[in-house]
Amino acid sequence: MIDTAWTITEQELIPRLLGKEIARGSDVPEMLLQVRGHRMAKAAIENAVWDLEAQVKGISLSQLLGGTREMIACGVSIGMEMDIPKQLERVEKEVAAGYQRIKLKCQPGYDSKVFAAVRERWPDILLSCDANSAYKLGDTDHIASWDEFKLLMIEQPLWYDDFYFHAMLQKRINTPICLDECIRNHRDAQAALELGSGRIINIKVGRVGGFTEAIAVHGIAQQHGVPVWCGGMLESGIGRAHNIALSSLPGFTLPGDVSASKRYWTDDIIEPEVTVSATGEIVVPQTVGRGFEVRKDRIHELTVRHQRLA
Ligand code: MG
Repeated sequence: MIDTAWTITEQELIPRLLGKEIARGSDVPEMLLQVRGHRMAKAAIENAVWDLEAQVKGISLSQLLGGTREMIACGVSIGMEMDIPKQLERVEKEVAAGYQRIKLKCQPGYDSKVFAAVRERWPDILLSCDANSAYKLGDTDHIASWDEFKLLMIEQPLWYDDFYFHAMLQKRINTPICLDECIRNHRDAQAALELGSGRIINIKVGRVGGFTEAIAVHGIAQQHGVPVWCGGMLESGIGRAHNIALSSLPGFTLPGDVSASKRYWTDDIIEPEVTVSATGEIVVPQTVGRGFEVRKDRIHELTVRHQRLA
């Protein structure tokens, strides 16, 4: 909720930073420690400090975060379209655009038939599904039947806040489970990987509360030999630029959901807009800071509420 983030930012987060000297983005979590939860609001503030730190140090945000990649691989997430021929057209469009992995949202009643139709037409593409917690443990046999579709992963099939029952499910299926919503921080990642709840983690910087925690989750995954990828939360250009920088870390070995600005916005708030090459890659900026200028004119046009805290 934007209003919740607004209130917590105004009343709890910003007052803890105002007037303080902050040397590094990684100092911010400690300063906000007394405020429990509100990870997305915290991430917005902490990541802005990292962005500024890169500018002050004269290095790229990717370099500051520990990035090693010059290009990142991009996939797309496709929402449910009940008419299967229409859904195939949507997949066709994204495959033609060069995206390296297609992710289909699914739910009971909208799963096996769609996977079968897509697989029949594209036997070799990297294909995954995201259930967004739509299934129960009683669906184990049904989920196990998807092994034949050779999915790269099944994302968060069970409850959003669970990784115990995911471990029981993972034991009974061959397809790797990818954990998304249930990984709130690096301790969750450690517990889940030790339990065997999944074999892949989707890192969303907003979901885990900022770059510091995202880097920590990445570190835990690396210790366990588990690949990660960067999920999207409909970011506008600034968040998209931050996702690109994060995706340049070495453990991000699978195509992420970081896609072109034009997939979501007619006119983004950054210059240049994020573009994806014909081979499904985004170039990681090596210039100072995030590598994309913020279009203040565009932000001004779009602003519906404004407040100055000092
Ligand atoms: Mg997901």
